[in-house]
Amino acid sequence: MNKNILHLDLDTFFVSCERLIDSRLQKRPLLVGGTGDRGVVAACSYETRRFGVHSGMPMRLAKRLCPEAVVIRGNSSIYTKYSHQVTEIIKEKVPIFEKASIDEFYADLSGMDKFFGSYKYATELRNTIIKETGLPISFGLSGNKIVSKVATGEAKPNNQLRVDFGFEKAFMAPLSIKKIPSVGDKTYQILRNLGIDKVGVVQQMPVEMMHSALGVNGITIWKRANGLDNPPLIPFHERKSISIERTFSKDTIDMLKLKTTIFAMAESLAYQLRRGDKLAARISVKIRYSDFNTYSKQVNIPYTSADHIIIPRVLELFEALYQRRLLIRLVGVKMSNLVSGNYQINLFDDTEEMLSLYNALDTIRNRFGESSIQKAASMGAKTIGSMKNPFNGEPPIILAHRKQ
Ligand SMILES: [Mg+2]
Repeated sequence: MNKNILHLDLDTFFVSCERLIDSRLQKRPLLVGGTGDRGVVAACSYETRRFGVHSGMPMRLAKRLCPEAVVIRGNSSIYTKYSHQVTEIIKEKVPIFEKASIDEFYADLSGMDKFFGSYKYATELRNTIIKETGLPISFGLSGNKIVSKVATGEAKPNNQLRVDFGFEKAFMAPLSIKKIPSVGDKTYQILRNLGIDKVGVVQQMPVEMMHSALGVNGITIWKRANGLDNPPLIPFHERKSISIERTFSKDTIDMLKLKTTIFAMAESLAYQLRRGDKLAARISVKIRYSDFNTYSKQVNIPYTSADHIIIPRVLELFEALYQRRLLIRLVGVKMSNLVSGNYQINLFDDTEEMLSLYNALDTIRNRFGESSIQKAASMGAKTIGSMKNPFNGEPPIILAHRKQ
């Protein structure tokens, strides 16, 4: 049976949020990110792109390329709020959807009797989002998740595009191979060196050739080029979470030990989020006293996976929670309300050095194990954390969003 898969993507999301808050920024070249001398561009408006500006580049270079740009320090709590708003609208209108990142969604519109019905429904959904939030959003609709994502990219900015059944290959053929999700800079260079620039060339190649050039990834790219890779949607659940708990062998009131344990739990969970390319929007802390009464407290936070944001909030929650002067039997920390995404969203204040520090720490952990490097404050709790990746290891604590 044919499917109808809708892909929705908010246009230049951070930039659009800033323009909602300050309408004077409309149509002006705009850079959002770290405003310090060594900050990084997190998002840039279309007006800056013809100067060669792109996200991820050092802010000082972007300013040099486009000196007339307005530069704004990002504010992740604003973006999280608008992301939740859009999610609520989609949740109300579509029974099965995936939140692929803070500004990107898939919805399964199959089962609507005619394809035209789905297109009409998608159009109305998009118009509702634009009307209720004021944010520009684009969509692609086809029978295939990957093709729909590519179609959204072609529709942008602030537009929509439908690819009819049977026309997937024809739609993809004239596009650059760069447009295939999962073709990064490295893969692009390898393919370019082989003289391959358009998706149509990949379509005509035998799959074995792609395999020998790029390994397993070559097969995926070939399937995507041919409209044959159609991964299932991963339904959105707000309760999706990762957590760590510890029951002490002997009930304790040793505050140093308790705080060290909580700290190490927070550090481990933040690392697990980054490793799984996830961000969390809610933190919970739980304690169980020796009389078995259990209390927990949670707080909503802007989407993050950064230690320096998560750890202090976890410690605050613990302080607020620990009220009775009783021995403690168990402590636990949980991160929930997860979406895919990387942690640069939080680093508006920070610098390339901070990004490199996180990368370096995580690279060491990935190679030598999670406890190979830790903050001094969590050294007393060496056994917290493990090599397991909850997003693709065993056992699966939550269902991961597929990386595309
Ligand atoms: Mg977007």
